[in-house]
Amino acid sequence: MSRLTIVSGLGGKLPACFLVEAGGARILLDVGEGPEPGVRPNIEPVGKVDAIFVSHAHEDHAAALDLAPDLGNPPVYATKGTWANIKNCPVPEDRRRLLPLRGNAEIFGASVTTGRCGHAPGGIWLHFAVGGGFLYTGDWSAESKVYPFDMPPQSATVVLDASYGDRDDALDDQVAALGRMLGDGAVLPIPIGGRGPEMALRLVELGHVKPHLCPEVRRQAETIASGGDDAASPQAQAAIAALLRSGLPEKPDPKGITICGDSNAEGGLAAELFARWLGSTPFIFTGHVPKKTPAHGAIAEGRARWQRWNTHPRRSDNVRLARAVGARQVIPAFTDLAGLVELPHELAPAPMLRAYDIDLI
Ligand SMILES: [Zn+2]
Repeated sequence: MSRLTIVSGLGGKLPACFLVEAGGARILLDVGEGPEPGVRPNIEPVGKVDAIFVSHAHEDHAAALDLAPDLGNPPVYATKGTWANIKNCPVPEDRRRLLPLRGNAEIFGASVTTGRCGHAPGGIWLHFAVGGGFLYTGDWSAESKVYPFDMPPQSATVVLDASYGDRDDALDDQVAALGRMLGDGAVLPIPIGGRGPEMALRLVELGHVKPHLCPEVRRQAETIASGGDDAASPQAQAAIAALLRSGLPEKPDPKGITICGDSNAEGGLAAELFARWLGSTPFIFTGHVPKKTPAHGAIAEGRARWQRWNTHPRRSDNVRLARAVGARQVIPAFTDLAGLVELPHELAPAPMLRAYDIDLI
């Protein structure tokens, strides 16, 4: 029997780390840190694995790769786009392997299919041909205009990105709400390797002034525009190329819009402007802001604002996906289970499992 062990990622917004044992192979899916600072999976009971697969480069999926020596220093598999985006990557070149963005691979006897997850440059879901199929969605989204989502094959068991729990509000409405909050100038801190170029595109489409992009977001936009990000859609490539050609402000302006990393204003241009401009220029955060950060404090005290920007699936997206792949058991990852009421109800008759050791049926 093939098995799934949840090392970390069940019962809260926790770092991703899952162990698949199938056909004699032991494969670890993601090994992240955060999003709360310093939270890491306990990999001590895992032992040696044959390989690590990384779904995408975000820290809560990839920032604990330095634990590889405790896992037997296995080869690490990720897409070209993910390798390009892992910060301070501790994996030596000779242990890096490539996964296709969309395709099939045989790795240590496991038949793996991948597809774009709609969430990040190089980001993928992973499907294993074991039992009736096992799908690990990683983080995914059906709403991005830049990063499309590919429908996975039939999957009896699904680890679902339930980051938003029961929430079902649409990105289009959130973008409109953000637009209404923008006055004469705003700083929009965002995660590097995420929503930055799409935010620029959508706000300009809504008629807002062209934003200044910090160097990292600018690079991401240029990579998309030049065709160097194969996870982005051709339409997005053309639209972002046109936006860049139209000329964006060279410098941040307190009366203009600035889209910059990092997401909690703890690093990059966002940190610099947070120190200089907080109190005079509005700061609007749009992602998960960890509790122990200055940004969290500023929002709590009313000195900064917050408007969600979906980069994970809504409840209805998750229900549609589970139905489309024929899910017979679902593990809701990255969410507080106590808050889930509607999702399990709508997934029925497929049971929602709250277990750490699961037989892959
Ligand atoms: Zn992510």
